[in-house]
Amino acid sequence: MSERKYTLAAPARFSGVGAHTGKFVRVVLEPSDVGRVVFRRRDLDSLVVAVDPARSGARNCTLLSGEGACVRTVEHLLAALLMCGIDSAEVELDGEEVPILDGSALPLVRIIREAGKSPLADSRRVLVLAKPLALEEGPASIVLEPSGGFEISYSIEYRHPLIGEQRVSFRLDEDTFRTQIAPARTFGFLKDAEKLRAKGLALGSSLENTVVLDDERVVNPPLRFPDEFVRHKVLDLVGDLALLGAPLRTRVSAVRAGHDLHLRAVRALHENKAEFFQA
Ligand SMILES: [Zn+2]
Repeated sequence: MSERKYTLAAPARFSGVGAHTGKFVRVVLEPSDVGRVVFRRRDLDSLVVAVDPARSGARNCTLLSGEGACVRTVEHLLAALLMCGIDSAEVELDGEEVPILDGSALPLVRIIREAGKSPLADSRRVLVLAKPLALEEGPASIVLEPSGGFEISYSIEYRHPLIGEQRVSFRLDEDTFRTQIAPARTFGFLKDAEKLRAKGLALGSSLENTVVLDDERVVNPPLRFPDEFVRHKVLDLVGDLALLGAPLRTRVSAVRAGHDLHLRAVRALHENKAEFFQA
């Protein structure tokens, strides 16, 4: 039985500052029948930036580069679109970075669900992993294995009294994503803030869009979950896997990973799609 692809039933709008650029950007999610998600820079003659693992990069966020332009911090939006079942949409922006909003994907999920979805004529391809992939980088690792569903286990370890070791495991569908993962916010350490700003990053980060930790505690409580940190890592991973452009059937186990390692896995799968996924 083949499922249909879906687009949005109506345009959806949001705006706000980018976490890294600090610039205010307006975004419109437009219904589209092209069958995939594309970004369009309205401030640059409507230049299209495709969702393409080969053109993705990690710089404390996930970015996509096109012909002379890029779109930054796409991961929370791509995760929300994927998990709300939207295959096809045009994301129009009048700037470079997707607004960070409250640091989570919850506002995005709300906006997308309010717009509603509408079926397209095309059928949806689900990427069913046929053979495992394992990558390592020092203490970090990511392993993908065949599975009948979309499952993610993630574990992190920080030398911080409030985080320490955190581990979660979810079988993800729209509801689990919306209630357990989407609300988890971006987090950062006060001691890193100066370093990031010196590199021109985190210029839009604030206590309104980032869970900030000093050496002992959360500067801006309360947390939404005691393990909000590792749940946010799951959100980032879902967003990075969404670069593959289709829903996945796989079990992913990530340990102390980050955008760099997520993207290495995504590129390895993308470059060998015929080998890794069932026809
Ligand atoms: Zn994130």
